[in-house]
Amino acid sequence: MPKDARGDILQNLYALYDRFCAEFAAACHKGCAHCCTANVTLTTLEASLIIDYWSCPGQPGAPLDALRATVARPHFQPILTINQVAEYCVRGLDIPDEAADPSAGPCPLLKDRLCSIYSVRPFGCRAMHSQSDCAGEGAAEMPEWLLAANNLMLQYVEGLDAQGVTGNLSALLLLLSQPQPAAAPAGMPANRSIPVLMIPPDLRQRLDPLLRGIQRMFRSPC
Ligand code: SF4
Repeated sequence: MPKDARGDILQNLYALYDRFCAEFAAACHKGCAHCCTANVTLTTLEASLIIDYWSCPGQPGAPLDALRATVARPHFQPILTINQVAEYCVRGLDIPDEAADPSAGPCPLLKDRLCSIYSVRPFGCRAMHSQSDCAGEGAAEMPEWLLAANNLMLQYVEGLDAQGVTGNLSALLLLLSQPQPAAAPAGMPANRSIPVLMIPPDLRQRLDPLLRGIQRMFRSPC
């Protein structure tokens, strides 16, 4: 499937997810940026969408200095993709611990407490909802159905980019902003297709509208 068609599906996936979560009473609000850290991850396709956005007329281009400075500091680098985790589960393998680095600073794309690429932000950012103020709780608080919906979306976002990789946002954007980016960036796990959907049986009905919407999207050209 050409990159443009996959980019369209990706944006339709984002929109479907937003509609599915519309009734969730989030405490999140404009200007709250507790979850905007340098630990965010994304796929190659998601990164391409951001790079295309930066090349639009009126946009300032990639903030290379800020990306370089962030990559030079501690930040989360994923070992496994979500679909690799699903594969480990199917095979009964131990899943390595992948804790986010608590010392990571803010995301370099945050400007005056607002996201400078809001319309094309990756799913890892869109997935962050909290039913209570993270400042008070110290972390986002999400119901089980939303965590499961996020995993489901992550599986399809990765599957849509099965030839790409998943990496830290700053590191992958920096790599892909090079004149001749490496086809297979070192140290970033390769994406793969979905081996099995990780939907807890008791949440199957709750997630059914989201799953049906996604499957319709993958059946028909957008
Ligand atoms: S890309 Fe935007 S929404 Fe995501 S962490 Fe960075 S500033 Fe926040």
